[in-house]
Amino acid sequence: MYIYADHASTTPVRDAAVKAMTPYLSQIYGNPSSFHREGQKASEALYMSRRTIASLLGCRPDELIFTSGGSEADVQALVSAAEYGYKIGKKHIVSTQIEHHAVLRTLGRLQALGFEVTLAPVDENGIVDADRLLDAVRDDTCLVSVMYANNEIGTIQPVEKIGLECRRLSVPFHTDAVQAVGHMHIDVGASHIDMLSASAHKFGGPKGVGFLYSRRGSIPAVPVIFGGPQENGRRAGTENVPGAVGMAAALGQASDFVKNGLKRVCSIRDLIISGLSRIPGSVLNGDAANRLCGNISFCFEGIEAEALLLALDQRGICASSGSACTSGAVEPSHVLTAIGRPRSMGALRLTVGEDITERQAEYIVGAVTESVAFLRGVGRS
Ligand SMILES: *Cc1c(COP(=O)(O)O)cnc(C)c1O
Repeated sequence: MYIYADHASTTPVRDAAVKAMTPYLSQIYGNPSSFHREGQKASEALYMSRRTIASLLGCRPDELIFTSGGSEADVQALVSAAEYGYKIGKKHIVSTQIEHHAVLRTLGRLQALGFEVTLAPVDENGIVDADRLLDAVRDDTCLVSVMYANNEIGTIQPVEKIGLECRRLSVPFHTDAVQAVGHMHIDVGASHIDMLSASAHKFGGPKGVGFLYSRRGSIPAVPVIFGGPQENGRRAGTENVPGAVGMAAALGQASDFVKNGLKRVCSIRDLIISGLSRIPGSVLNGDAANRLCGNISFCFEGIEAEALLLALDQRGICASSGSACTSGAVEPSHVLTAIGRPRSMGALRLTVGEDITERQAEYIVGAVTESVAFLRGVGRS
């Protein structure tokens, strides 16, 4: 059996996305900025993609800035808030301990430039305490940034509540929704979101393309890539037309799945979670209820994460030890540390896709149970 259970790292490209993109990789090659007919065809495709995504997200097309992916969108959101804050003398940013490195490293750079950063802790289930987070907001706070759903442990944060309070306090609110877009229903208006980051390759689109939603009436998005006037002067560089077309097609299909297939995946996730919970010395990471439908994250006593991944790979299961960006590094995951997991425990993250079956779920539970038992046996001999 072969099971790709690493969808939080990246997803296979959807057929609909490949089909939509293909003409834009060959016959329709114009530069959207060109005046002639080739340019117009490309420009039209770009506009249609923007309109599709806007309607799925509940925003206006001109509130979307196409970027090279989630990391760039995160950087642009934070830098935009910093520039706004710098101009009016507000140099404090509130975020959380479990953000993606694209956010945390950018905050580190801003700190080096004189900004003050408060990172709110999370509870033992990996949920940020909205009241404590909002208590950290001061008169000189220029941004609150809280991820929608965590990439390692799948926890879904109280974004609506935080958004509402930020709006009341007149503080811009950004959410890194890279793991949430295309995986759950999101309404940027109802959640009072000012800026939102997304990435196509996390919901069945191609790699190297994403977007930043920047609400009209909130702070202006400033470019972090300088040059031409593309994206209304908010992101220079010739647009990734095939990428945008593929991203829109992927989000369309992902939204259909959210409407029709999400419950089924959630129940299979719970099947795997209850199976793995029976392994002695295992503990679920993240909240049992407020979590992404495809996310299963566990820590195992006395297990080395890399050894478990190797054993699972040999059984045809592609999994991860946490975040792809930290595996290979000796550093323990900042997310698992934030929820109080000791270094001695090995972490396993399984993130399953829409096509996961009950049979595959049983296979996963069996393979992990046997691998953990085997590795513990090796350790003892
Ligand atoms: C993957 C990911 C990113 C980075 O997106 P890229 O498109 O790979 O740059 C940012 N935030 C979260 C939560 C992610 O999971």
